[in-house]
Amino acid sequence: MSISYRNGTLPKGPLKVDRPLSMNSSTKSSSSSFKSKNSGHAPASATRRKSTGSVVNSAVNAKDDNSVSGRVRVAVRLRPRNAEEMESDADFADCVELQPELKRLKLRRNNWDSDTYEFDEVLTEFSSQKRVYEVVAKPVVESVLDGYNGTVMAYGQTGTGKTYTLGRLGEEDTADRGIMVRAMEDILAEITPEKDSISVSYFQLYMESIQDLLNPMNDNISIVEDPKTGDVSLPGATTVDIRDQKSFLELLRVGEAHRFAANTKLNTESSRSHAMLMVHVERSVKGRDSAISSENGSASHTAKAFKPPVVRKSKLVVVDLAGSERIDKSGSEAHTLEEAKSINLSLSALGKCINALAENSAHVPVRDSKLTRLLRDSFGGTARTSLVITIGPSPRHRGETASTIMFGQRAMKVENMLKIKEEFDYKSLSRRLEMQLEKQIAEHERQQKGFKDDIERITREAQIRITEAEKGYAEALERERSRYQNDYMDAISKLEEQWAANKQKQENEKAKSSMLSASLEVAELKKLFENETISRKVAEEEIDNLKNQLAQWKRSEAAGNSEILKLRKMLEDEKCQKAKLEEEIAVLRNQLMQLSFEADETRRNLDRGETVKLPGTLDSPIPPFMHQHLGDSGNGEKASMAKLFEQVGLQKILSLLESEDADVQIHAVKVVANLAAEEANQERIVKAGGLKSLLTLLRSSNDETIHRVAAGAIANLAMNETNQELIMSQGGISLLSVTAAKAEDPQTLRMVAGAIANLCGNEKLQPKLRGEGGVKALLGMVRCRHPDVLAQVARGIANFAKCESRAYTQGSKTGKSLLIEDGTLPWIVQNANNEASPIRRHIELALCHLAQHEINAKDMIKVGALWELVRISRDCSRDDIRTLAYRTLTSSPSFQAELKRLRIDYG
Ligand code: ADP
Ligand code: MG
Repeated sequence: MSISYRNGTLPKGPLKVDRPLSMNSSTKSSSSSFKSKNSGHAPASATRRKSTGSVVNSAVNAKDDNSVSGRVRVAVRLRPRNAEEMESDADFADCVELQPELKRLKLRRNNWDSDTYEFDEVLTEFSSQKRVYEVVAKPVVESVLDGYNGTVMAYGQTGTGKTYTLGRLGEEDTADRGIMVRAMEDILAEITPEKDSISVSYFQLYMESIQDLLNPMNDNISIVEDPKTGDVSLPGATTVDIRDQKSFLELLRVGEAHRFAANTKLNTESSRSHAMLMVHVERSVKGRDSAISSENGSASHTAKAFKPPVVRKSKLVVVDLAGSERIDKSGSEAHTLEEAKSINLSLSALGKCINALAENSAHVPVRDSKLTRLLRDSFGGTARTSLVITIGPSPRHRGETASTIMFGQRAMKVENMLKIKEEFDYKSLSRRLEMQLEKQIAEHERQQKGFKDDIERITREAQIRITEAEKGYAEALERERSRYQNDYMDAISKLEEQWAANKQKQENEKAKSSMLSASLEVAELKKLFENETISRKVAEEEIDNLKNQLAQWKRSEAAGNSEILKLRKMLEDEKCQKAKLEEEIAVLRNQLMQLSFEADETRRNLDRGETVKLPGTLDSPIPPFMHQHLGDSGNGEKASMAKLFEQVGLQKILSLLESEDADVQIHAVKVVANLAAEEANQERIVKAGGLKSLLTLLRSSNDETIHRVAAGAIANLAMNETNQELIMSQGGISLLSVTAAKAEDPQTLRMVAGAIANLCGNEKLQPKLRGEGGVKALLGMVRCRHPDVLAQVARGIANFAKCESRAYTQGSKTGKSLLIEDGTLPWIVQNANNEASPIRRHIELALCHLAQHEINAKDMIKVGALWELVRISRDCSRDDIRTLAYRTLTSSPSFQAELKRLRIDYG
């Protein structure tokens, strides 16, 4: 073991010197001071090192985890003035002044001068025991629990409070508890009773003999030092295992009593002896916390499991030192000087050692006394040490106080090196394993038992619940049953009561007024009877009424039935009538069919026979249109027509023109048209109102076939002068004009144009015809380029021109030609050389008629008619027309002038 001494005044770094102090011969250079871990334990920071020396060089040899260095920490505690001092020192100021916040103490030298000292902790007269414990002892106790040795010492003049600070039990007032009691409390709270153990020995040192305070018989205990480890032990001292605080307090009490007894026996005071409490702490260390096990970090997991447990052994020493005052000053006459020397030996040896350590002296006289031998670890040893110096306030003891302060100051310079002591504890390992095994067996058994208990409990509970449920159910049933029974009984009793009451009432009433009630009843019955009679009568009346109504209904129903029969008969009659009429219609239809068929036959015969006669000259008769279909009827035809008339009757045929049936109408109009083609029939048809019917058809019908056939019939009728006038007077021109405007079929247009063309041949009708738009209608029809239509238009114009020419000649007309006025000239000129000969001929004739009258010449020249006339006069194949054109040209001064003007040699 090695110890490093540190003198803060020599900042050269750690000195490692084998000292006589060390009993350990196997000094190793590896040991050194190590501060970092416990720096918290040394709150004295660099700023306060002024008086204590420089900081430990912590950078050196940090590898030894088991050792931690630490300076002796020194606190000063001032006792409050006691009663005596209060009195005697009343006029004097305290010799010390504390500055706890600066951790300074001022010691008055005189009234105007004082020395200032710094301590690790300055505890005023008001400091509580708790605080004193916490700043002085607690860090030491904690370090002991961590496995380091620790020492707490109190040094000071007798009566300044050393015992008060360390040894108070606080039985009356827990706040008074001293360091010993509080330390044990903390230790017991921290350790695990099953794994760790605490044992205590308590003794005192008086005149270099050690007396066991736990066993007074044992009054000369010897110190044994292990030459290998340097551990100091007192094998003769009684050690008591501590399990709880109570036993510890008891132990302290016993120790105190024995101390008092011993001192009485030795005829001394406790202030002359040093009392020492040694608390041995043995703690098992968990694998990872252990310094030993961490050295064997490579060991396998299973190997670790069977490693013996590591125990840390540490020791807390609490030392209540003897009074620091000089014996000669103590005023005790009972001791010789030798005695006095002996009494003070240990304390002065301690002072000398501290001085030597503080001054880093080469020799520390540790072996000079038993105290220093026992405290070898505490000062400059491997322990963490706290020293509390106690002082009084009295200026009378200034000298002692000063010397105490100096002791403390020197102690602050002593540096310790802490070392953890750990060793394997195989015995305890096997014990522990055994214990574990037993524990597990027990645990297993407990679990088994637990399961069994649980099952039993659950079964029991279930049973209970089932029983409870059954019980509850039965109870509920019973309740219900009894409730119903009660209800039933109640009802019965109520009924019985009612019955009894009724009976009573009846009897009473019977007894009281049987007579009265009888007569009343009779009256009531009579009244009821009357009422009944009345209502029966009413009912009978009602029945009669209903019977009457029924009879009436029956009568009216019979009447209704006869009405219905009548109507039915009428309906039958109507039906018969209708059937008859339908028959007639059928007959008529058949007849009509026959007529149509015969008419068609006639037409076919005609078609097979002669062709239609074309107009040869202007005066030639206008062709009857239907002759193209019906033909120019021969004798046979005429005969069949006559036969038709005879068979059907014209009137009937004409009446069919007004038929609702379109087919009937068409057939009828066709028949009429065919009849009208025959000159012989025309008069009869007109007389029978046929013309009127045909014109009506034009107006009323929308069927173009009807229009076409009707127009054809009108055209045929229009061949006769009388009929022409009739047609005009009945508004035929405007009807034909409207039909012309509407018509799309060229054959319809041909018929209409033919009809108008026939009318154009009537000289008398010309102004009216033109006035009613006949010429315009004619001209309008040229929109259809069909040659048949154009031929009829041309014929109409030619007829009109011929009649006008006649009128000019007779002197009845003087003005310009109405044809020119109605704008026909351009069309005439355009078609004058039409390749269709019927058109060309009619136009050539028309041109010639117009040209014969000088008044038309100018207009004709304007539209180029002159050239057509010239062409006609030269090229026309018909001699008569050619000659007429020539004559006209040569006789007209206007045409002649024009020809001359154009230098055309004509003539
Ligand atoms: P020592 O052990 O140093 O001789 P004690 O502990 O016996 O001194 O104390 C002497 C007296 O002073 C005792 O009566 C004690 O109760 C009292 N005393 C000591 N310190 C204090 C303190 N801090 N507060 C109150 N009383 C104290
Ligand atoms: Mg004391």
